[in-house]
This record gives sequence, structure tokens and C-alpha cells, in this order.
Amino acid sequence: NKQVLLKNYVTGFPKESDMEIVEGSITLKVPEGSSDVVLLKNLYLSCDPYMRLLMYKDTPVSLGFHYSPGSPLTAFGVSKVVESGDPNYKKDDLVWGVTKWEEYSLVPSAQILFKIDHTDVPLSYYTGILGMPGMTAYGGFFELGCPKKGEKVFVSAASGAVGQLVGQFAKLTGCYVVGSAGSQEKVDILKNKLGFDEAFNYKEESNLDAALKRYFPEGIDIYFENVGGKTLDAVLLNMRSHGRILVCGMISQYNLSQAEGVTNMAYLIYKEIKMQGFIVSQFYPLYPKFLEFILPHIREGKIAYVEDIVEGLESGPAALVGLFSGQNFGKKVLAIAPQ
Ligand code: NDP
Repeated sequence: NKQVLLKNYVTGFPKESDMEIVEGSITLKVPEGSSDVVLLKNLYLSCDPYMRLLMYKDTPVSLGFHYSPGSPLTAFGVSKVVESGDPNYKKDDLVWGVTKWEEYSLVPSAQILFKIDHTDVPLSYYTGILGMPGMTAYGGFFELGCPKKGEKVFVSAASGAVGQLVGQFAKLTGCYVVGSAGSQEKVDILKNKLGFDEAFNYKEESNLDAALKRYFPEGIDIYFENVGGKTLDAVLLNMRSHGRILVCGMISQYNLSQAEGVTNMAYLIYKEIKMQGFIVSQFYPLYPKFLEFILPHIREGKIAYVEDIVEGLESGPAALVGLFSGQNFGKKVLAIAPQ
């Protein structure tokens, strides 16, 4: 049972050598009499920015699980049930939820979030558009953002797992949407495949305030925040009165021992802006409603989804490290046992 272990707690930018690949030796059997444990064969494993936060000795987030040196990385994944002590699951059920970066995982059945009933779409989608990032974009944008037709929306890390969906949800609502991303290739995809009205490469802009003024001469109604730091500071100067900032992530800050100062917070007052952070788990009860909304859009080709799939657990450490320099192009997924 191959596994990716955390080797040591991490400070600064993560390195591939902070993780190691080993042949683990879990007993591939549900313990006799346990009614709340399942044995999973992991098919696709998700590679997400929050995983870095769990590599701190004192992680600032509480997600119900943490990392410790010598243990496999806990992560979202799509799995097949091999054996179940829990009567709610049976052999060969397809599920998605919280598993581990290994080939087989013995996990509490409570970590399974949902059974997978729809298999006419790629199974890997349940790590992305039909999984945690999809719920993040849906809940954050629709439930908290309350978007209205005609509003002006800005999305950072726009080509990532979450951002590409927020942009498309904004277009479906009739908003004007602009995304920022870290390469010309990503900008082209945003405009030509994902339907953003405009997009720009933030690495090429010496003055982010000027860039935002170019795309939002009347200001921004909704900012979907994925990066933090300098981008947030420039956005604050460009919000419209009563605008909303949905704080989903701040990836530019995750590896810094001292967070970058944001200097324009007073604009929250001047423009009466509502700024709200959130964690996706609050939206899980909406999953059935979300599927009803999104599956027809996927099937009819009205929503596109860009994935960046790499093979095997061996690709895991580089994939995770690469998120912090924009190496991924869309949702990063490890294919472990593709179906
Ligand atoms: P992805 O893993 O798909 O992509 C991350 C992207 O962030 C990279 O590809 C890179 O793209 C960009 N990036 C990396 N470093 C920086 C930097 N220093 N400055 C600006 N951009 C950077 O991301 P997700 O879509 O999965 O996640 C997006 C954000 O949402 C993250 O902050 C994540 O932590 C957060 N999140 C929060 C959740 C919640 O419950 N609140 C749930 C899920 C995600 P580029 O080439 O454009 O630089």
C-alpha cells in the first residue's frame, strides 16, 4: 500500500523533500465487529492549497484533521468501497470524501461525505467541480455573494479549481466578470474557453490598482478572494459602495511567516463593504440542490471544467508544491487507479 507521508513540519515554501513515498503496511481489512470503519480503494486524490496549512506544527485552520510527521496526508478523494463495517455502504459503492494519499485507506465511515450516483460524468470531477471546490464556488458565490444580474465581479486565481467555476457562475447570472491569473496561456483559456469577459496576467501588471481601474472603471461589486496580499489591497481601492468581498482563500500568504500588510482596510468603512470569510463545509447540506443545478449544465456543455491530472502517488509531492507557483493548469488531481 503505497503512501505519501509528511516527513517534517514545514516552514516557508513547501518542498518535495518535505514528503516521502513509502510502501506502507496497513492491514487491508475492516476490524472484526466495527460498524463505523470502511476500507477504501482510492481512485482519484485531490491536491489542494489548504494541505499546506496542515503542514504547520500549529495549523491555523481546524478542519477536523491535522497532519503529523510520519503519517500519510489526509485529503479529499474519490474512492471505491472494498469492505464496509458500516451498513450504509457496501462493496463497490463509489464515494467521495476525506481519505488519505495512499492506495488503500481504512477510514471512519463518517469521513465519507457522499455516495456517487452519477457516473456519466468523469469520476475525477468529484475531486473538483462535483466535489469540495465545486461546493466552495457555489456556496461562496451564490449563498454568500447574493449576485445580481449586471453586477461586476472580479475573481483572483481565476483558472484554478474554484475560480474557473466562480467566473462561469457569474456569467450564468448575467454579471460582467474579470479574472486574474499567472500566465498568458491561463488568460487565454479564461477568455476563450471559460467565458470570462476579460482576464489579465497579474504578474505582468506593475500597478494592480491601475489594472483594476482599466477593467472596472465603475468599480467592483463582488470580489471572490483566492489570493490575498497585494491583490486584496488593490481591490479595496476599487470596490463600489456596498460591495461584497468573499474571502475564500489567501494562497499568497500561506507560506509566509509574517503575513503581508494590507494597507487599505479603511475602505471597508468608506465604501460600506461587507467582507466575509467562509469554510466550504457549511455548504455540504446544499449538495443535492447543487447537483441538481450543476449536472445539467455539465451535460449540456454550458459549464466547462479544466483539470490537470497527473498519474500516481509519486507525482503527489511535486503536484502539491507546484500549486504555490501556479504550475497547475486547472484542478490538480492525482489519478491513482483511474476507472
Ligand atoms: P488551485 O490549487 O486550483 O490553484 C491555486 C492557484 O493559485 C495556482 O495555480 C496559482 O495560479 C495561484 N497562486 C499560487 N500562488 C499565488 C500567489 N502567491 N499569488 C497569486 N496567485 C497565486 O486553487 P483552488 O481553486 O483549489 O483554491 C483557490 C483558493 O481557494 C485557495 O486560496 C484555497 O486555499 C481556497 N479554498 C478555500 C476553501 C474554503 O473552504 N474557504 C475551499 C477550497 C479552496 P496563478 O498561475 O494564477 O498564479
